[in-house]
Parts: sequence; structure tokens; C-alpha cells
Amino acid sequence: MSKHEIPYKIYLEESELPTAWYNLRADMKNKPAPLLNPATHQPMGFEDLRPVFCDELIKQELDNTTPYFDIPGEILDFYKMYRPSPLIHAEFLEKALGTPAKIYYKFEGNNTSGSHKLNSAIAQAYYAKKQGLKGVTTETGAGQWGTALSMACSFFDLDCKVYMVKVSYEQKPFRREVMRTYGASVTPSPSETTVVGRKILEAHPGTSGSLGCAISEAVEVATGLPGYRYVLGSVLNQVLLHQSVIGLETQAALEKYDIHPDIIIGCAGGGSNLGGLISPFMRDKILGKADYRIIAVEPASCPSFTRGKYAYDYCDTGMVCPLSKMYTLGSNFIPSANHAGGLRYHGMSSVLSQLYDDGLMEARAVEQTSVFQAAELFARVEGTLPAPESSHAIRAAIDEALKCKETGEAKTIVFGLTGTGYFDMTAYQKFNDGAMTDYIPTDEELQASFAQLPKVD
Ligand SMILES: *Cc1c(COP(=O)(O)O)cnc(C)c1O
Repeated sequence: MSKHEIPYKIYLEESELPTAWYNLRADMKNKPAPLLNPATHQPMGFEDLRPVFCDELIKQELDNTTPYFDIPGEILDFYKMYRPSPLIHAEFLEKALGTPAKIYYKFEGNNTSGSHKLNSAIAQAYYAKKQGLKGVTTETGAGQWGTALSMACSFFDLDCKVYMVKVSYEQKPFRREVMRTYGASVTPSPSETTVVGRKILEAHPGTSGSLGCAISEAVEVATGLPGYRYVLGSVLNQVLLHQSVIGLETQAALEKYDIHPDIIIGCAGGGSNLGGLISPFMRDKILGKADYRIIAVEPASCPSFTRGKYAYDYCDTGMVCPLSKMYTLGSNFIPSANHAGGLRYHGMSSVLSQLYDDGLMEARAVEQTSVFQAAELFARVEGTLPAPESSHAIRAAIDEALKCKETGEAKTIVFGLTGTGYFDMTAYQKFNDGAMTDYIPTDEELQASFAQLPKVD
């Protein structure tokens, strides 16, 4: 098929939508390390996790062998409201860059929550409902996960309690109102409503909060209230499983037009969109069927892969969650408050951490100002106003396309555009005013944080 037959937007038919999620762990030679009990350092099994998570989701979390999980019909029905998401040929960006490279992006911002997080939120709400629970608790940083979960909970008529990192709660009042419109209750974290919140407030009065601290509060509430469980929007194996729908659709759309990517790029906060996007491609790479360069892009202000340690660490500040082996900056690492948007989590998915450690993917860190320069160019030529998180992937895609311009190679680049940036205008305003700064932690700061990693043999 000749190139000009490729449409600007590649859509799949409803009948071509994936009907099963793909579990990359089944094909990984080195499996991700198990979650450990934070007190005993023993691997956590089904029964250990039951007070915190929904039963069916624990099974998915612990399953390293089943390659496919059928997507339940009620979830497929919900997916139909906003999926398939388009795979877009960024021809205007190619032209603006004057590159021979071909650039495609999978756009996940086409739903009210504005990001890919809805793909997992609806699955987690479904399994909570099926278990007969009353509701779920969670944390949200930038607000996308909380919004997605509120939408999912209202669809299944579940109560939804969101602990929102205080700095976002104050900076993004409209996000909060979207969540409340969908019926969620939203509490700024740290709060006086939990033991751990009160403790953190006592130790750090005036703190603007962190994800790790909001997680501790949400877990405390879930385990203390009958009929409630805790749900998490990134990092966990189950979340990567649900997000595989992104990669499966992308692969199907590329195959439809006989497009063969050379480079696949995604931003990495906790790793869920990237893990989902790459899952079928990584399978082919592991099985020796194809080869791709896979690049995780993270902020230079929170560089888990590029400057972190591969070690067991706490997932939250309160140290109540299981220990996870991952690339981490230490659970006490608090990224600079002037960094915009998400991607501020100290750790990383244990699946991606293992793949990175095995040399199956690359990582790079990019500075905030250069990310917004890429976002601005993208918005001006491709139309969509990207989320700051997504713009990390845009930055790397542009850099790769510019390398092609130098070498004359016509590589095919696919990246994940995870969401839209309408609620991030404070950050855009800083950028437009020339007031944005690039904060990079020093080695001393990181060493101090690593010194507090738990000792696990
Ligand atoms: C949450 C979020 C991310 C980062 O989370 P991952 O789990 O790493 O995918 C990226 N982009 C957007 C728009 C988000 O909302």
C-alpha cells in the first residue's frame, strides 16, 4: 500500500477492538520481583493483599503466567464510549520539522477525564462493584486519575473518595469540580481526617503534599471502612495489564496499513501508559519476531530510571503499602514543587524496571522548559493542546525526528500522546511568561534519599 493512502487519523472498526488484555509478564524471561510485606519482607500472597485491594484485581496483580485476560462485556461497553482512540499521522509536525522521519501518535486524551487513566479506572471500578463493595478510595496528584476514577465509579454507582495532593487541589479547582460533578468526594492531602495525615502535618506543617503521602491516607481509609478498598492508577501490574488496550489498538492500526515502527516512545511517571503502549511490541521483541528501540521519557526533576536505584522501596511515605522492587529515588524524595503536572512519583512499575534492567528499553530525562517548547510547537501545528506529561514524549519524538533530518534516515516513530492539558494552564502561563525554571536534584540530595531505602536481602 503506498504511503498517501494512509489517512491522517487511523481508526479501527468497533469489531476490531481488542477483547482481551495482554499480560506481558507471561512472556518476560525475567519476571518482575514480587511485592514484599513491609514488616516481614516476605512475598505477599492473595490473602495478604485482600484487606487493601479487590479480589479479582489481586489475582491479576499476582499472575505472571496467563497471557490474555478477557475484557468483561460491561467494560467493553464503556470502552465503546471513547475507544478506539485514533492513531494519528503527525504530518503537520513532520512538515514543521522538515524531517524525513514518519511520526505517529496514539491519542488517549479524547474522553472527559482527558487521559489514558480511564482505561484502568473503569476496570477497577467494575471489579469492585462485582465484589459487592460500597466504594473505593484513592489518591490523585495532577488530578487525571481522580477524574477518571470518578467517572468510572459513577458509571457503576460506587462511592469514590479521592485524596488530592494539596498543591494540585489548590492549583486546579476545576479538576476538583469535575470530580465532584461525577459524585466523588475530594479531600486535600495531607488532611486531618487520617492518623497518617495528622502525623505528616505535625512533622511538616504547611507542606504542599506528595503522592506518597496521599496514598498512605487513601489506604488508611480503605482498610478502616467496611466495604471499601483502595485502588491505584499507575505503577501496579494490573494497571499495565488494563493499559495494554493502548498497545493492542496501536499494533492493529499499524498492521492495517503495513506500517513498521523503528522507535516507540512514551512518557513515564509510574509507567502505566508506556507499559500498555509497548506491551505487544515488547512481546515481539522478547520473542525475537521484531526489533524496536523503546524509549521511556521522564522529567529531569524526578529521574527514577536515569538516576534512580533498582531496589526494594516503599510505595508511599507512610510505609503502609507493600515494598516493591523498582527504579526509585527513595520514598522520601519530594520532587520540586515547581515541576508541572504528573510524572512526580518517586518509583516506577516493577515490570518496566525489570525490562530496563534487562537492557530491553532505554530511558532519558528531559528538562521542563524544553518539554514546554515541544508542547507549544505541537499545539501550534497539530492543534491538540497536550498535557505536560505527554509533552515529555513529544520532546523525545521531536529530538529523534531531528536526528533523522541530520542523517537523512526515514525512521518511523510512534509515541503515546496520553492526554490534553486544559487543566494545566498555570504551567503554560509560567512558560508563556518566561518564568519557568528547570530544577534538577543534586547527587547529594539523591544520596540522602537513597540512604533511607529499606534494607532488604
Ligand atoms: C498520569 C499520567 C501520566 C503518567 O502516568 P503513567 O502511569 O506513567 O502513564 C502521563 N500522562 C498523563 C496525561 C497522565 O494523566
